[in-house]
Amino acid sequence: MINIPKGTKDVLPADSYKWHYVEDKAMEVAKEFCIQEIRTPVFEHTELFLRGVGDTTDIVNKEMYTFNDKGGRSITLKPEGTAGVARAFIENGLGEMPQPTKMYYITPVFRYERPQAGRLREHHQFGVEIYGASSAQADAEVILIAKAMLNKCGIADEMLTLKINSIGCPQCRPRYNAALKEYFAAHIEEMCPTCRERLEKNPLRILDCKEERCKQVAAKAPVILDFLCDECKSHHELLCGALQAAGVKFETDPHIVRGLDYYTRTVFEFVSTAIGAQGTVCGGGRYDGLVQQVGGKPTPAAGFGMGLERLLMVMQNMGAEIPAPQGPDVYIAPLCEQGYEKAVKLASALRSLGFAVEREMSGRSLKAQMKYAAKIGAKKVVFIGEDELQKGIYTVKNMADGTSRPMTEEELTEALK
Ligand code: ATP
Ligand code: MG
Repeated sequence: MINIPKGTKDVLPADSYKWHYVEDKAMEVAKEFCIQEIRTPVFEHTELFLRGVGDTTDIVNKEMYTFNDKGGRSITLKPEGTAGVARAFIENGLGEMPQPTKMYYITPVFRYERPQAGRLREHHQFGVEIYGASSAQADAEVILIAKAMLNKCGIADEMLTLKINSIGCPQCRPRYNAALKEYFAAHIEEMCPTCRERLEKNPLRILDCKEERCKQVAAKAPVILDFLCDECKSHHELLCGALQAAGVKFETDPHIVRGLDYYTRTVFEFVSTAIGAQGTVCGGGRYDGLVQQVGGKPTPAAGFGMGLERLLMVMQNMGAEIPAPQGPDVYIAPLCEQGYEKAVKLASALRSLGFAVEREMSGRSLKAQMKYAAKIGAKKVVFIGEDELQKGIYTVKNMADGTSRPMTEEELTEALK
């Protein structure tokens, strides 16, 4: 017996409708916000993520699925959705088209993490990217898109906290990093080994550490908002104003820094109280340096990634309604050999009219067929026995009230409408 790899999940036939539901909602939101889909490969050259995601991140340092292909190239399975989109944007000259370029994706994402509730090695994300718009209005739009998606999936505002922050830009962040280094260096003994490493390379990430001892130290660390340059400060204020104008509630949380190096200025998270530790369903922000970092022209960009497994978990824990699929409109039950010929023809005719039709294929007894039809929730059962064949009619059982009556094909079609 070969088992599923650790940290991955099957979506079984009985559950796939839940995925279709959230994917449909994502597409509805995309339509409402006039965003087109982009599909990029599941794997890319490793170099893209080294440059795009950044070599001080957890993702690049320990989470990537990287291997050499038979041609000796280093290949990595997407550990996030944005870098591939940035590459495609550059490679296909999308920046030459009227800007902004608005794109969404639904993609599997691979990260070698310790599997636990809400943390998988293959998960899926719905993400949105807006390239070519530098104003805080674009940041607000990105947040509104994520919020629209969460609301559409039945997660009310009261169940969500939107946390925003600014992590500055290459002009003002170095000064903040220096202040952070000085502060954390004085507390190095109290911090976890990972954070001790982070101190030199990426002190900002210490603010995001989940370890209690690090959290305690971080609580008193200098706050970035005090270090922002005038442009970053005004960008942040404009975003707050835009969100207020849109009636969106938020908290400014100086500890939101995000796990990827490419962020500049705005970072945000939607956190749900419905799933405990892994409560972040969506993370995003602005990354004005990314396109240039992976070889394109300087291009402002903002976006988010939303974990669909976590979204489904939140929906389930909140009791958000996902309508279960309906059973077939018709189940066709042949009761003799010739009945099967008629059944195939009738099935084709009804399917071409758009009805969902299932027919018996195994030659089971009437009793077994009825049991099965009830189990799959068929609305009507059409019997084709010798008697029916002779008279050129069908016996149609309405499963809702248990009544049966003879019908011609026209009558059956009418009854199904
Ligand atoms: P976390 O802090 O939980 O590790 P992250 O900062 O690594 O999250 P992002 O890279 O921003 O997360 O990914 C966007 C979203 O994808 C997250 O908010 C979360 O909902 C989801 N996600 C991230 N990693 C996983 C995972 N291993 N399994 C399931 N969902 C995930
Ligand atoms: Mg992570």
